[in-house]
Amino acid sequence: MIHPADSSRRLIDSFGRVHNNLRISVTDRCNIRCFYCMPAENVEFMPKEHLLSFEEIERVVRIGTTLGIDRVRLTGGEPLVRRGLHVLVRKLAAMPGIVDIGLTTNGILLEEQARELRDAGLRRLNISLDALDPEIFRKVTRRDGYERVLAGIEAARSVGFSPIKLNAVSVRGLTESQIVPFGQLARDTDTVVRFIEFMPLDADSQWQRDKVLFANEIVATLEEAFGPLRPIDGGNTSVSNAVLPVLGNSAHAPAQDFEFADGKGRIGLIASVSQPFCASCNRFRITADGRLRNCLFSNDETDIKHLLRDQGDDEAIAQAMLDSIAAKKEGHEINTARFIQPDRPMYSIGG
Ligand code: SAM
Ligand code: SF4
Repeated sequence: MIHPADSSRRLIDSFGRVHNNLRISVTDRCNIRCFYCMPAENVEFMPKEHLLSFEEIERVVRIGTTLGIDRVRLTGGEPLVRRGLHVLVRKLAAMPGIVDIGLTTNGILLEEQARELRDAGLRRLNISLDALDPEIFRKVTRRDGYERVLAGIEAARSVGFSPIKLNAVSVRGLTESQIVPFGQLARDTDTVVRFIEFMPLDADSQWQRDKVLFANEIVATLEEAFGPLRPIDGGNTSVSNAVLPVLGNSAHAPAQDFEFADGKGRIGLIASVSQPFCASCNRFRITADGRLRNCLFSNDETDIKHLLRDQGDDEAIAQAMLDSIAAKKEGHEINTARFIQPDRPMYSIGG
């Protein structure tokens, strides 16, 4: 049995980065087929018995809290297709040591589940929506569902999630026309729109650098339409269309947050490709089939499912976490010739 609050045992890697943030994939299944994440058809999902049970996930998180994990985010695949997810949310929200629990969802099933998730203690919710135009939504997701996402957003708002945070992956040649409408939405409502650069994590290896719509281009388009953006942490520098400020409002948050100079409208930029935030990364992941990944772009994983299932003790699982973090590389190498796209696409890792 290991004991809480042993400050000598922290998830610190060889570059001094302290990890307190665990992203948990609860399934690799999904009800849509975003082209930047999944294959269009014939997806091979994990056999159900490979998925960690809620009890196993709770155990991993509990052990993680003894190593300094205090924030978790549930993701997938689409987390809301995992039956009874609110039961897990309730358990994690009540767990000593956990101060923050978030969920990332495509919103399709949110109308039905927003209330029970809120009641279970969920307070941070990110909804992925790449386009306000239904045709472009369909091109991205290769499925219907736009109206259901809008209904999900409304349901989230009505049960008290505020502000609503939308994640929009930006892809050159596809979503440029959505930047200004999203900016307008952010200005007119309590919606924070976070634009994410397209990363090389798609299942069909279609990613190419020239398909990345860079954050500085998005900023330029927004500033042209609505005037200057300024960092939300009180800085007063307007954002040039050449270079983004190095940090937004949190040293660890991947998003750099801005508002328009007239005080209306919050925008986030996740410039994972053009401005990697590896130097301040504080997160690691567990896949739905129980593998620790110390980086989205890692090519190595540590299987802890067998420890969870074959009577591995808590200490062995804690040590696996410490070892995984100790082996973390300095950063992804997307911008180098050395880069190798991971075998596992985003839906299978857990975004
Ligand atoms: N299904 C949920 C959803 O879409 O919100 C949660 C899982 S999804 C993998 C998590 C986030 O990763 C989403 O916001 C999605 O848009 C983003 N994502 C997936 N593939 C991506 C890629 N290749 N580049 C950038 N973001 C990606
Ligand atoms: Fe599903 Fe999310 Fe991947 Fe889209 S990004 S296919 S919603 S897991």
